[in-house]
Amino acid sequence: MAKPLEELTATAIRDAFLRRERSARSIVEEQFAILKEREVAVGAFLTVMQEEALARADALDRKLADGAQMGKLAGIPVAVKDNICTRGVATTCASRILEGYVPPYDAHVVERLIEEDAVIIGKTNMDEFAMGSSTENSAFKLTRNPWDRERIPGGSSGGSAAAVAARMAPLALGSDTGGSIRQPAGLCGVVGLKPTYGRVSRYGLVAFASSLDQIGPLARTAGDTALLLEAIAPRDGRDSTCTDREVPDYVEALEQPISGLTFGLPGEFFIEGGLDREVARALEQARRCYEALGVRFRDISLPHSRIDVEDGQLSSYAVACYYILCTAEASSNLARYDGVRYGHRSDERGDIIEMYSRTRGEGFGEEVKRRIMLGTHALSSGYYDAYYLRAGRVRRLIQSDFERAWEQVDLVFAPVSPTPAFRIGEKADDPLAMYLSDIFTISCNLAGICGISVPCGFSSEGLPVALQLMGRHWDEERLLAAAHAYQIHTDWHKRAPALEGG
Ligand code: GLN
Repeated sequence: MAKPLEELTATAIRDAFLRRERSARSIVEEQFAILKEREVAVGAFLTVMQEEALARADALDRKLADGAQMGKLAGIPVAVKDNICTRGVATTCASRILEGYVPPYDAHVVERLIEEDAVIIGKTNMDEFAMGSSTENSAFKLTRNPWDRERIPGGSSGGSAAAVAARMAPLALGSDTGGSIRQPAGLCGVVGLKPTYGRVSRYGLVAFASSLDQIGPLARTAGDTALLLEAIAPRDGRDSTCTDREVPDYVEALEQPISGLTFGLPGEFFIEGGLDREVARALEQARRCYEALGVRFRDISLPHSRIDVEDGQLSSYAVACYYILCTAEASSNLARYDGVRYGHRSDERGDIIEMYSRTRGEGFGEEVKRRIMLGTHALSSGYYDAYYLRAGRVRRLIQSDFERAWEQVDLVFAPVSPTPAFRIGEKADDPLAMYLSDIFTISCNLAGICGISVPCGFSSEGLPVALQLMGRHWDEERLLAAAHAYQIHTDWHKRAPALEGG
């Protein structure tokens, strides 16, 4: 008998389709049966595209029957974060201000999914405009962690991570500005990769902080992550920051040997009081596993990504620098939501300035307003030098720290998140505590390098814990090979959360 769909990797689903063991229609029908059964418990999707997906599946079945050449993602269901434009399908960024906005075009990555014969099954929940670390900032719904429904799934790509963890989709796209792919992937026990800045076109990604934003894959295995990255990475002239470099064969790169590599351990990340004990223990075990695979570990220093602990309170230059730069860029990027061009417009009467201000007052949530105000302040005359310019200099120092590290090591080994998933509501009223949960992920964005989050254990409460590997610019191949080697020797990624219908 055929294995249930949820036990198959994306790669295995494609192969079963190409070998004609399963039709695309049967794959998509089974996927929606799982999705519908679990959506009530998890709340991962803002839009479910069942009709479109079934029509697409039938078209793929005909294409295969006609003997046509099939794409890399043939027949694989994929979920897409709701800040990535899909032609004819609502794209809201989980914001009231974009309620009812239906893009007239597809993002580059969506075009790529279609060209590679994937089946898009829906749009996933997120923190409004990707601002947040728990998906609680969504204007529309709460997403729950499939491992413990009283806890957050992480954010801002919480819907994508929860969907993959709950087997509601084998693959998903997210976006990562300060950790939004890696952190939710880590807290939900799946793999998430932030590509090097410029590796994947941002055309059609709703901008948050343009110098940091990258789209990337979430999946259960390194192999599936490689497959999806390969599909979305081809060059695109519509994003001027997108590289001309050839797309490596990421799937083939999985088999590259890792024995003899050196991983750097940043002393600044492993300090007393900075990391939950159980997270520290899981990382220590992962380190031993890598050592057994022939990897050497070496202490390194990333002084400007340092974390300070005083009276139990954490602080970090990188967090301060990130929250000045990303709010400044967001205040500029979000100026376009004026009630004229997109989505929501206030019904109240008044002149045009009142209309703008009412529209923005009604349409944006609290966190988005906070960031627009912080960013506008950081850019205002008299404060620009003290905040924005200075943060730019700190960013340069953070980059230089990594450049020095690459003289000694191949990859950097780090935590993803200081603790496992926290409880719903626990940090919702404390923006600073929420910002500090990004302490280990934002340096990677500031430096523009690539990073991956890989499941590496569970806490005593049964919550997933993850390790992070960071690599030089354009070194995704090595990240994937290192993640793959680890997954061959461990089975954390094979465990599934217990859910109704699971
Ligand atoms: N949690 C970070 C923030 O709130 C990162 C968000 C992201 O990567 N999109 O900005």
